[in-house]
Amino acid sequence: MKFYNLIAGEKISNSDWFERRNPANTDEVVAEFPKADIKTTNQAIEAASDAFSNWAATPAPTRGDILFRAAELIEQRADALAETMTREEGKTLAESRGEVIRSRDIIRYFAAEGRRMSGETLPSDRKDSMLFTRREPLGVVGIITPWNFPMAIPAWKLAPALVAGCTVVFKPASLVPLMGLRLVEIFHEAGLPKGVLNFVVGSGATVGDAIVTNPKVKGISFTGSHAVGHEIHQKAAPEMTRTQLEMGGKNPLIVLNDGDINLAVNMAISAGFGLTGQACTAASRVIVQRGVLDEFTEKFAAKARAIAVGNGVKGATMGPAVDASQFKTDLDYIEIGKQEGAQLILGGTQVKSDTPGHFIAPTIFSQVRADMRIAQEEIFGPVVSIIPVDTLEEAVNIANGIEYGLSASVITNNLRSAFYFIENIQAGVVKINQGTTGLQVQIPFGGFKKSSTNTFREQGKLAIDFYSRLKSVYLDYPS
Ligand code: NDP
Repeated sequence: MKFYNLIAGEKISNSDWFERRNPANTDEVVAEFPKADIKTTNQAIEAASDAFSNWAATPAPTRGDILFRAAELIEQRADALAETMTREEGKTLAESRGEVIRSRDIIRYFAAEGRRMSGETLPSDRKDSMLFTRREPLGVVGIITPWNFPMAIPAWKLAPALVAGCTVVFKPASLVPLMGLRLVEIFHEAGLPKGVLNFVVGSGATVGDAIVTNPKVKGISFTGSHAVGHEIHQKAAPEMTRTQLEMGGKNPLIVLNDGDINLAVNMAISAGFGLTGQACTAASRVIVQRGVLDEFTEKFAAKARAIAVGNGVKGATMGPAVDASQFKTDLDYIEIGKQEGAQLILGGTQVKSDTPGHFIAPTIFSQVRADMRIAQEEIFGPVVSIIPVDTLEEAVNIANGIEYGLSASVITNNLRSAFYFIENIQAGVVKINQGTTGLQVQIPFGGFKKSSTNTFREQGKLAIDFYSRLKSVYLDYPS
């Protein structure tokens, strides 16, 4: 079926089409979209610019009410949205449904922020005088998202942008345009005025670049790879455009001798192989203290062996790689791991299926050294490295010995170990007795080191900071 860009509420098309195929059945075309060019992207930016003053002047609680209606529509359509997500991205139906419901909750949370966005009132040095801060929307913002959470990541950027009073040009990843469009349509159906949210599909190099370099765009919120984030940072610098960049991860799950081993296994399974390992917070390194190494490895491999890889709409418990390129990356890293001398104890191969798809087996390497490439680089697939250690201190050193710092977990029943971990781990998200994946909207999210620009956090009430600017007001009321 053929779709469109959406600019100032109008469906915009052209003659340059691309198609998205189901990664679990590449015979199936899920959607065809017209590729936006620079002219179309600039048109979207103009539409957002024209809509800004009215939207900024709309009371924030009214903006929030539109978001509440959008959340209701998502809830009503949860099953259909989940099925579309599975066909387009490949994750299992249970994972897609979880993401749809989470998107509803994210939008509800920011809808309520419409009534809570606050400044500060401060005492003045002067008599008959007061000081206060006033929060105003930043302006037109560009939102550029990756493919792995086709609805939740757009939701956690769009909702705070809209409730703060910004107008938006939104570019989804080219691998998941249909879920992006579905979300944009829902906001419009909920009552969003034309031009407030504009949707352009096309390559990052063309559409993304045109958004980043346009001086009318006052902020860029991006989630994706470090390489692209770094490029955006450079390109936004000449105009000093505000950026919020959330990037890759190589997240450690540490298992200590005193931890609950069955909990550790469950967390390693869900954080390592959930979403086919294609999560920025995936636990791709499991760092295990030697006292429980054999028991953990045996139980982890046994549970991973039971994962049913296949088409997510047909009951599989792990879906395919998102496309041929990611599939090749996974297999290439598996080869690298073997050559580096890690021990392949599970998987490592393509999985045959009755439909042509990019299926890969859950893969576990043991006896991995911290300096191996499979323990250092983000693979973004179902490949987990087990790294043996003697002590907690060694585990934390290894956990920190990489370029990224997004999410990190420890499984322990010792309070002192838990606090040592909290204080010393270099990560923006720190979890005790939980897996590295899974976020709640009310607490801020973002990484350290190369995982983030460390400027503005996403989610939680701090998310509004990126999309707003403060005026400091000095007010005298002489008698
Ligand atoms: P990419 O960096 O390849 O792409 C992300 C987005 O940027 C896409 O919309 C892409 O468009 C666009 N883009 C590509 N090139 C440019 C450019 N030159 N200028 C502007 N935009 C551009 O990431 P993936 O989509 O492959 O997503 C996977 C990555 O995302 C992983 O590294 C993962 O860790 C990270 N991620 C981080 C999260 C976090 O919160 N820290 C959460 C989820 C994922 P197009 O699709 O057309 O190429």
